[in-house]
Amino acid sequence: MLHEATMRLGQIPLPAFFSSILLALTVILILKSGVSEDQVTHVLERVEALGFQAHLSRGTYRTIVGIIGDESQLTPESLSAIPGVSKVIPVLPPYKLASLEAHPEPSVIDVSGVKVGGGHLAMIAGPCSVEDPERMDRIAGLVRAAGANLFRGGAFKPRTSPYAFQGLGEEGLRILRDVGRKHQMPTVTEVTDPRNVELVAEYCDMLQVGARNMQNFVLLTEVGRTQRPVLLKRGMSATITDLLMSAEYVLSQGNPNVVLCERGVKGFDSATRNLFDVAAVPAVKTLSHLPIIVDPSHATGRPDLIPACAMAGLAAGADGVHIEVHDCPEEAKSDGPQALLPGQYAELMHQLRDLAHLLGKSISPLPGVAA
Ligand code: PEP
Ligand code: MN
Repeated sequence: MLHEATMRLGQIPLPAFFSSILLALTVILILKSGVSEDQVTHVLERVEALGFQAHLSRGTYRTIVGIIGDESQLTPESLSAIPGVSKVIPVLPPYKLASLEAHPEPSVIDVSGVKVGGGHLAMIAGPCSVEDPERMDRIAGLVRAAGANLFRGGAFKPRTSPYAFQGLGEEGLRILRDVGRKHQMPTVTEVTDPRNVELVAEYCDMLQVGARNMQNFVLLTEVGRTQRPVLLKRGMSATITDLLMSAEYVLSQGNPNVVLCERGVKGFDSATRNLFDVAAVPAVKTLSHLPIIVDPSHATGRPDLIPACAMAGLAAGADGVHIEVHDCPEEAKSDGPQALLPGQYAELMHQLRDLAHLLGKSISPLPGVAA
């Protein structure tokens, strides 16, 4: 793996001797053209003072220093401050546990009996917010009948306005749990505050970290201390590397159960709520073993576009689809305008099931229900 990763740095002519030291090569430093002898000596001394071995290679045009040692002890960016260094090229990605190098096979996450990843699809559906028990019961019955395998609803809502509905809190968690139990569907709900992680984990099967909290590192650390599966949504201005680094926070605390979610990033066009970055799905697959699902509801904000984007996400390799469904969108406490009606959801699920079949994947059966 390491060997391959290094060889992918195709534009850099690697000196022959590097092939013998690849197994420990951590970072490559390209020195500036015209670097002085004093600067070269200083670079080597500095690398060794940091506890690493430095291997010098002088080419016709450029001098290269290979740094050998334990990469977890090094912050590559800081090396660019050494005089004479032109470029710092890390050999391994900064997200070590989330990377394919660490785990070449796709991870399969078990959400209370529902498998996600490795050909098993998660179909998460439900209203944006947890609402009254009768409505939740009705919606759960309908999405379950349509083939959803995880039931969602937010009890703690991160709203842009402090005056907007903030969620039912613990009462909402109780409603979601009871309805999930009645319909034998594992539940997904958002946790917004590190102080509530334990509480939310007691009630639900999967902890959602929303887009607005993707880089709340205290929250990520707390959910990492549980073993509850985590649905980590991409921040609206986050790069794919940012997303994987956030996953790394959870993994590095000892919780390996992370499912990523592409839910759209900020775009310039108000025709859609966000910009659905469908390419992020196959891009993540080239970098990480973690499952990634798509959320066309928040990505587009438009029920008329959700079916096409759900199909595109699945075709691009997503491990599931997350969709907001409401039986009376005009009465929804939040995100009503983007909700699919239960009938529309059922129709889409037919198409998704056919596509899954073509792709050789299957919608994970509910626990206790035959496939
Ligand atoms: C949600 O799932 O209702 C939600 C708020 O999602 P996001 O964090 O992606 O905006
Ligand atoms: Mn929502």
